[in-house]
Amino acid sequence: MAEKIYERLKAISYPRPSGSAQEKKTLDYLAEQIREMGFDPEIEEFSYTRRIPEEAYVAAVLDDGSEIAFPVTGITDSMETAPEGETAEFYYLRSYDEVSLTRVRGKIVLIHGRLSMEEYRRIKNAGIAGYIVTSGTIRDTYENSDLETARFRDNLSDLGALPAFTIRMIDAVKLLRLRPEKLRFRLRLKEETVQSRNLSVTVPGTSLPEEILAVGAHYDSVPYSLGSWDNGAGAVEMLSLLEHLKEHPARRTVKVILFGSEETGLHGSEAYVEAHPEVIEKTKAMLNIDVGGSILGKELIFLSASDDTEVWVRQLLKESGYEAVTVKMVMSSDSARFNDVGIPSISIGQDAPQGGGYMHTRYDNMDLIDENVLKREAEFIMYLVHRLADPEVFPIPRFLPDSIRKGVIGYFGEKNSRLAKMPAVPEEKPLPFHF
Ligand SMILES: [Zn+2]
Repeated sequence: MAEKIYERLKAISYPRPSGSAQEKKTLDYLAEQIREMGFDPEIEEFSYTRRIPEEAYVAAVLDDGSEIAFPVTGITDSMETAPEGETAEFYYLRSYDEVSLTRVRGKIVLIHGRLSMEEYRRIKNAGIAGYIVTSGTIRDTYENSDLETARFRDNLSDLGALPAFTIRMIDAVKLLRLRPEKLRFRLRLKEETVQSRNLSVTVPGTSLPEEILAVGAHYDSVPYSLGSWDNGAGAVEMLSLLEHLKEHPARRTVKVILFGSEETGLHGSEAYVEAHPEVIEKTKAMLNIDVGGSILGKELIFLSASDDTEVWVRQLLKESGYEAVTVKMVMSSDSARFNDVGIPSISIGQDAPQGGGYMHTRYDNMDLIDENVLKREAEFIMYLVHRLADPEVFPIPRFLPDSIRKGVIGYFGEKNSRLAKMPAVPEEKPLPFHF
């Protein structure tokens, strides 16, 4: 099995960005493998629109009025500047402390890392004119790095967008050394409609077919990345699961879903949830696989579910001897779309040690992939599917505790979250004993 999973992963290890011909090619390959097993996969197209950068320009304005431009890209779905561009004072926002925040009004700020909703709210309210985030590390060169194609997150859009750019970390250092008072910046976006596809296979339950366990993995990658780790591994592990289920179906129905366009905003799972209310109605829980197969790092299990579920999963780890850490939080992956309609999820991922992983870069390739790790993960998925789908009573209540509910609504934003419009379901505990 190990060799087969590895070969399949090698076969799909090339950039497969949302809406691209390569994404389509990957789904065709996965569909073909599934047909060879004797299943009839259902393929569904969906589309979404986004505003991608058409022109992005950031330059330091020197004392003599000349400009030194840096290679940058715009942030998808952020906001255009005036067509002729804008000039604003420059500020390096090292942290979101109270002192710094009094100094940013009307300025274009350089920041690091991903913006949380709260961080964005503070800089937006402080009146910044725009912002630049950094990509990569100070060890990069132009030849060995790509500018990350970030996206303005849905939950931030509740607060209103701003012109936003990405610059390499090495250029951020150069920019800071110039100590420019002002930057000149221009951003033009163009709207495009993206076509993508999901694939699903239904393996009917042998004795409780009306109850569904959804199991999913996304098969797209970010641009530049070969996406072996994120998430070619999860996609090919789904093939192993299907091969197994062909011979050993579970008591409950298992829906195996391969999602397109996860990396651009969970669009595949959004389309799936939207198109299949009847499936959602019957779905007891969702098992999501996102990131795996690397010889380095630890296995993680994210739980968007009750406290009891975490206890149950940890017990399964002890029983099965599978080495993994459980974390109770909403994972930024397709499982979140299922959480957003009230379905609890278990998400399996893999974390690299510092310096040992390059998610969303060209270094996510086959170099660190290990066939035994792939096999171990695939076997644990099979085990978990049976432990979920076979018991007399489904082991996980269809319930989201308050912390997870808040996490899901915060992740999508009040305005976009479906869960925000649904009443909270109370947890059903065993009734007390009485005479
Ligand atoms: Zn992923």
